[in-house]
Amino acid sequence: MNPPNDRHLTIIGAGLAGAVLATLLARRGWDVEVYEKRDDPRKRDLERGRSINLALAERGRNALRQAAADEAVMAQAVMMRGRMVHFADGRTDLQRYGRDDSEVIWSVHRGELNRILLDIAERAGARLHFDLGLQSVDFDNRIAHYGGRDGQSRAIPFRTLIGADGAGSSLRQAMAAETDLRERSDFLDHSYKELEIPPSPGGDFLIEPNALHIWPRGRYMCIALPNDEQTFTVTLFLPNAADPETGVPGFDTIRTGADARALFDREFPDASALIPRLEQDFDGNPTGVLGTLYLDRWHLDGRAVLVGDAAHAMVPFHGQGMNCAFEDCVALAEHLDRTADRATAFAAFQAERLPNARAIQHMALENYLEMRDRVDDDDYLIQRALERLLAERHPDRFVPRYAMVTFRHIPYAVALERGNIQRELLVELTRGHQRLDTLDWDSVDAAVRARLAPLPGDD
Ligand code: FAD
Repeated sequence: MNPPNDRHLTIIGAGLAGAVLATLLARRGWDVEVYEKRDDPRKRDLERGRSINLALAERGRNALRQAAADEAVMAQAVMMRGRMVHFADGRTDLQRYGRDDSEVIWSVHRGELNRILLDIAERAGARLHFDLGLQSVDFDNRIAHYGGRDGQSRAIPFRTLIGADGAGSSLRQAMAAETDLRERSDFLDHSYKELEIPPSPGGDFLIEPNALHIWPRGRYMCIALPNDEQTFTVTLFLPNAADPETGVPGFDTIRTGADARALFDREFPDASALIPRLEQDFDGNPTGVLGTLYLDRWHLDGRAVLVGDAAHAMVPFHGQGMNCAFEDCVALAEHLDRTADRATAFAAFQAERLPNARAIQHMALENYLEMRDRVDDDDYLIQRALERLLAERHPDRFVPRYAMVTFRHIPYAVALERGNIQRELLVELTRGHQRLDTLDWDSVDAAVRARLAPLPGDD
């Protein structure tokens, strides 16, 4: 077999990042080949009976625009204006994410999104091969070995492999056999289970569709995101082990659908009434683990590089894993265009993206505590109220961290750093105050100006 040409790139994985990257590169004139271990999801509905959705934010949409995929994706997206918090006493409160409907996030169906992106990648000229999973790599001779259901192994030459093969990346494993990537994973002591709220008998949404619903209960919580077929995907997050002292439940005590129903009736009664198949969903759906993957090295000279979850899987509590993966794709395509030498391009890509991946991984972990524990406590509510006022008084300087991450393109690392300063300010300025009208606004404004330089605009 002939060695691939100078413009050839091989992407491993036709999931979310793989499909977007294939499109971006093919549109820039690269010769792109993609290998995916699953069957073509456009031919067989692999997720029959299960709707899983993801929150799409501005960073992701920015990449989709560059891939000319935004319009098709947005046609099936459902707007989420804020968090609808369901308190333990049955009250609800919509906490808006942004200033108005220009600052919202979007719920998209994972399977449908993947199918749309694969069509677009193919139309852009990428060649997709399904039922061929990467098994091993001979980096010296630049031969990759793939296998499918027929049990046959295929040896296919490559110039460069790009790993978009997710958290359990086979390419990462092959690279680690060549060089120390300094890989470590931190697993949370919490896991998750997906359930579903169906449409009403009349075919409508049973609860407010334009919100991300949260039932925070201290050490655990439930969330629900809308789907465009009028259902909601509900995700229950619980500790792995119950704590008998505090009565906090865990997956070790909530083992069956019947246990889950009893938990919902007790702790989330309004949600329980909306999930008729809770027992079947709980018994039938897998329990997912949650972890953060850290690597100090994302590439093997110019022969291989990792993007998305393969390089930096994170916990899902900021809804940014896919958004960050899409941002990686834009950055990698730009570095490949800018620098002819691939090892140099990958080193520059890693230098740009690794600190930002670390920052969003950290913020995603912090958001877990905030979502399950803080959205209903008093200190948090007064700090959020001040945050909103400061954002109005100083729109160029004080942009809430959630907004920097979700509605802007500024690097995650900058959002983290400025967010820390803002949090210190909110704590200091509200200390000893129960209400905002007792604050001295001159000194509040002076503190903001002294600590926060104006934020540069998005490019
Ligand atoms: P994946 O989507 O995992 O795709 C990897 C692809 O590679 C798959 O198609 C797989 O079949 C294929 N593959 C694997 N091994 C091989 C192989 N050996 N050979 C060939 N192909 C292979 N992110 C958000 O932005 N917003 C959210 O709201 C959000 N919610 C989430 C909720 C949960 C519960 C979880 C677990 C994650 C969530 N995420 C969210 C994160 C998001 O799902 C991931 O960050 C995103 O899917 C990463 O995309 P990827 O393409 O890197 O990996």
